[in-house]
Amino acid sequence: MTRNGLRIELARVYGFCPGVRRAVRMVEEHLAREGPLATLGAIVHNAHVVEALEKKGARVAGSVSQAHEPTVAITAHGAGQEVYSEIERRGLKLVDTTCPIVKRAQEAARTLAEEGYAVLIYGEEAHPEVRGILSWTAGKGYATLSPEGLPELSERKLAVISQTTKDREAFWAFVRQVISRFHPSLEDLRVVDTTCPETGRRYQAALELAAHVQAIFVVGSRNSANTRKLAETCRKTGVATYFIESAQEIDPAWVAGLSRVGVTAGASTPDEVIDQVIARLHKMGGESP
Ligand code: SF4
Repeated sequence: MTRNGLRIELARVYGFCPGVRRAVRMVEEHLAREGPLATLGAIVHNAHVVEALEKKGARVAGSVSQAHEPTVAITAHGAGQEVYSEIERRGLKLVDTTCPIVKRAQEAARTLAEEGYAVLIYGEEAHPEVRGILSWTAGKGYATLSPEGLPELSERKLAVISQTTKDREAFWAFVRQVISRFHPSLEDLRVVDTTCPETGRRYQAALELAAHVQAIFVVGSRNSANTRKLAETCRKTGVATYFIESAQEIDPAWVAGLSRVGVTAGASTPDEVIDQVIARLHKMGGESP
């Protein structure tokens, strides 16, 4: 038994998703093998990871033209075809960490557009992943969260795909809305479910954890959309939720008198930061099962 009997429970699924883990590994391997590179945007939405990679020689560049290094890395969100062309034109080396699930969405968008389909992408137009997928449709794509906002389309063949991080049920609801909006003039409809199960698995595991703890720590960067949503998901259950970026932020008063706390983390949060949070809770009298 611990000093104050504080039990620390971890969510069934938390932290880095396979796509982000793979991207970080690919960049680290390149740095160790061949030296500095520029990443086209942050490789992960987490300041700890970006700083650690920067120390090893990975500089964040806003675009290919801002890269001074001989190699550029495309992030797990992927990139448009014009980015690949510019990398080639400039004779730069490429480390392509595009997540295979995002790649599948890009390939579906390209193939379907080539086959004459108007490609509807369920997602946020300004999101880098969606901008990348749109580019592969060569002008035949539309990104939206509601078919009502779409213009009249001349194509009678429609294809629907999704931004990978969107909720699967919401994607299929969008498909039904597309059918009711375009049904009379529709000759053919192709649906490719490109949602990724990883984000949903983290929300589900956080809900299960929130159901039997008195407080929950959600670890991750405040600029990570999926970690923010994870914290909102926990908060909505009514459990005391603390969204923290690092172990130092934990106020001992938050756990005083509690017997059960939970820890989860967004898909961009590295293992070290989660381990530091657990270590600090141990120092406050916590015990892992
Ligand atoms: S959330 Fe899914 S699609 Fe996005 S990087 Fe991770 S594994 Fe890939």
